[in-house]
Amino acid sequence: MSQLQRIAIAPSQFQQGQIVLTKEQLHYLVRVLRLREGDRFIAMDGVGKWWLAQLAGEQAEVLEALLVETELPVSITLIMALPKGNGFDEVVRACTELGVACIAPVLSDRTLLHPSPQKLERWRRIAAEAAEQSERSFVPTILEPVAFNTAVTTNLATHRYICEARGEYPYLSKVLTDISGEIIIATGPEGGWTTKELENAIASGFQPVSLGRRILRAVTAPIVALSLIMAASEV
Ligand code: SAH
Repeated sequence: MSQLQRIAIAPSQFQQGQIVLTKEQLHYLVRVLRLREGDRFIAMDGVGKWWLAQLAGEQAEVLEALLVETELPVSITLIMALPKGNGFDEVVRACTELGVACIAPVLSDRTLLHPSPQKLERWRRIAAEAAEQSERSFVPTILEPVAFNTAVTTNLATHRYICEARGEYPYLSKVLTDISGEIIIATGPEGGWTTKELENAIASGFQPVSLGRRILRAVTAPIVALSLIMAASEV
């Protein structure tokens, strides 16, 4: 099945056993991928479903629903203070590959970048492409950027962690025992969190954790955090 081409569709395109293709999708399937009448491909709706489909005229017939088991057993939300430049692009891509469910970009006291609305579109596109390439059944949700303090008070999950580069905090890998359900993890900007931000997060139920003795770059920290959670949650 894996050698079949995959395309992303909107859930609404699946109608009564058929996939109503858009002009762009048809162009992509026929002109770019060179599929012919009767050829098979996989359609993914980004919200948990994969379909084996067959090109039939300008539409596609759905042959069967496919079982995909590439999602993590836990749901991870990454709160990340926006880094400089295009650093967030790489974070979205890598964390999607690692299985993140939701990414909440935040503006913190030391955030230098204030993103344009086009950025959000771009990140969502990157997440969709990365989910497709990693054969995930869900495309992670990328939320609109909000203030860090808003994010920590509105995101409620059983397990809440904030990564802090300095201080004597327990290793994330050590506190990740017996995890299930939802996990939220926050990582800071190049300049780190302010004391007040850390205090606010702790007051909102976030446990400060370490990712090791070295100071990681803002764009490396979330990738390390996600890898540790992945390793602890998947058998
Ligand atoms: N300039 C800051 C470091 C910022 S690193 C300083 O010198 O203190 C950017 C972010 O990555 C931090 O806010 C933290 O969330 C995360 N991070 C980097 N290294 C880390 C480590 N060893 N443990 C936990 N978090 C870390």
